[in-house]
Amino acid sequence: MSTFRFQALQRATDRKPVEVEELDRKSAIFGTNVFGDKAMRQFLTPDAYKAVKDAANGTKIDRKMAEYIALGMKEWALSKGVTHYTHWFQPLTGTTAEKHDAFFETSFDGSDPVEKFGGSQLVQQEPDASSFPNGGIRNTFEARGYTAWDPTSPAFIFGTTLCIPTVFVSYTGEALDNKTPLLRALHAIDSAAIDVARYFDKNVKKVTPTLGWEQEYFLIDSALATSRPDILATGRTLLGHTSAKGQQLEDHYFGSIPTRVLQYMRDLENECMLLGIPVKTRHNEVAPNQFELAPIFEETNLAVDHNSLLMDVMQKVAERHDFKVLFHEKPFKGVNGSGKHNNWSLATDTGVNLLSPGKTPMSNLQFLTFFINTIKAVHDYEELLRASIASASNDHRLGANEAPPAIISVFIGQQLTKVLAELEGVSKGKLSPEEKTDLKLNVVGKLPDVMLDNTDRNRTSPFAFTGNKFEFRAVGSSANCAVSMTTLNTIVAKQLKDFKAEVDTLIEKKDLKKDEAIFNVLREYIKQTKAILFEGDGYSEAWEVEAKKRGLSNHKTTPEALKAKVSKKAVAVFGEMDVMNHVEVESRYEIELEEYVKKIQIEGRVLGDIARNHVVPTAIKYQNVLIENVKGLKEIFGKDFEKIAGEQINLIKEISGHIEGINSKVEAMTQERRTANALTNTEKMAAAYCDKVKPYFDQIRYHADKLELLVDDEMWTLTKYRELLFTK
Ligand code: ADP
Ligand code: MG
Repeated sequence: MSTFRFQALQRATDRKPVEVEELDRKSAIFGTNVFGDKAMRQFLTPDAYKAVKDAANGTKIDRKMAEYIALGMKEWALSKGVTHYTHWFQPLTGTTAEKHDAFFETSFDGSDPVEKFGGSQLVQQEPDASSFPNGGIRNTFEARGYTAWDPTSPAFIFGTTLCIPTVFVSYTGEALDNKTPLLRALHAIDSAAIDVARYFDKNVKKVTPTLGWEQEYFLIDSALATSRPDILATGRTLLGHTSAKGQQLEDHYFGSIPTRVLQYMRDLENECMLLGIPVKTRHNEVAPNQFELAPIFEETNLAVDHNSLLMDVMQKVAERHDFKVLFHEKPFKGVNGSGKHNNWSLATDTGVNLLSPGKTPMSNLQFLTFFINTIKAVHDYEELLRASIASASNDHRLGANEAPPAIISVFIGQQLTKVLAELEGVSKGKLSPEEKTDLKLNVVGKLPDVMLDNTDRNRTSPFAFTGNKFEFRAVGSSANCAVSMTTLNTIVAKQLKDFKAEVDTLIEKKDLKKDEAIFNVLREYIKQTKAILFEGDGYSEAWEVEAKKRGLSNHKTTPEALKAKVSKKAVAVFGEMDVMNHVEVESRYEIELEEYVKKIQIEGRVLGDIARNHVVPTAIKYQNVLIENVKGLKEIFGKDFEKIAGEQINLIKEISGHIEGINSKVEAMTQERRTANALTNTEKMAAAYCDKVKPYFDQIRYHADKLELLVDDEMWTLTKYRELLFTK
């Protein structure tokens, strides 16, 4: 009997739910471990408190003030039993990084032991971070990258460590992380959107992009996960026959949450509350053992930090419950994969959601302005947006006939489609008083009623308007939201900047009134952007054909999609909006290609390994049993044995066929890997891994999965789909 698999199954089925103690009510514990408003007011002098607050609006904190802030932060942390501090950052690996230092210090002779933490430790650190990917920006041997405090995201305590959110930049100022470009993009859209918002309300002083992500994930018993080398090494199953029961009964979606899982979720939510992550929703997702968690939306930088932190916390809390969290976009063949919808909008400091229709014709014109400009940005930069969500793991989702296709399009619903059609008919130049009245009464005046009707949500759209926000659904579950949010906010910022220039020109040169100018520009945008609007079934083949006619891109693989990141247009927009210079753009391209290569390389190796070292030997063992059986039958029945042992003989042959299939395909794949590895150009190497190596995965899997069906269950060493997906 294949002991490892059955021991794991035994352990998994013996598990009892871990009891979770209910802390105080959520509102009472929310943010307890965050150096937020309450803690700052308690531990900082009024001056220091104000300095941190002002920093959020771009005011620099001087050295002396940093000392005071550090002192207060340390006192707060020590009062909560904290021993270490770390600069917490998001290198280009897509995850988070930390290096802990103790507060504790002594003199060199061991005297004067004390807990110390000064302004310089708070503000800047130089981690020995030479092995983070930097795409050539920073010479690795120099290792001169430093982390710098981001005062717009509050410090927090996790375990016994004070974590200080930081950016990670090179000494020459180039961003080595995901946070720095995001902060720049948020700044860019703030300035661009303020200018446009002031057409409607002079009092607007700040526009904040908001983000509400929805995190999907799988939860697998840790013993079972450990029993699968592919899950351990790649986060997904590389083989395994689909279970007889999958998600076809739709009995998991929104069903009652299994007790063990519910305890995990409660534990996780308590941790989130302490960390100030405002989690709100939890439920089962479509696939068995798939779940979702969503927070209340927040300012984008904070929301991105919270999502990165959450992914870390989820894995840590899972350990207490003997679970492993799978964030991979497609851990299992044959059931749904996971995504991370990014709900996005723009909020003003006057309390207005710019993507929410208002009560007056003017506020509705404001809504339409931001709404149409967003559509225009997505239209003009659809390839760049596609590139922002490209990864080896997300390739399994996009365009794979499930969840958003690789074609970017925008869904706006029937009612808004009608509104746009009416606006398209607005006269050129000056508008007659009658037309103005008609527009006010019948088009922009009617919006609020229209919006209530906006219930026909199209689940196949990668970028959908959902009443008061856009929902970017193509983002992968394992992604750092910073990358897609940097891109989206940059392209909308650029669009709003251009819009402002066009409107101002019409006002100055053509003597149009403000609203006339706005109507004129929007009308042209509506005409120009029709290709990106799509209301139909995004999964259908007809859409692929139609999208091609419209000139929309359809890049199904990461190496293809990523090219748009370094196009002239991309370099220009990131440069113009001061988000990334060309070195930063190109280095990210290089890093992502390398990451793609590494991921496929590892998958190829692991697959070759388990196919040959698990599947083939098991198949041979079982084949030997059959051979013994046939020999025995021959002994008993003599020359008649062939009739009686016919099925067994066929099985023996069939098994041999699949063994041959595995061996020859693994050999061929290995050869292709060698050829790919010899390439020196990363772009070509990624293409080779994509087009030459990866196609073998399915072929090898085909034979292995066939063998799984033939071989005696007791001999099979790899934990099966039904066990991974239905053990609760
Ligand atoms: P679903 O898409 O699953 O139907 P909802 O539409 O209820 O879910 O909302 C999903 C997410 O949208 C939530 O995380 C919520 O915080 C977020 N959200 C709601 N309003 C906004 C907004 N103005 N800006 C950004 N995110 C928002
Ligand atoms: Mg959603």
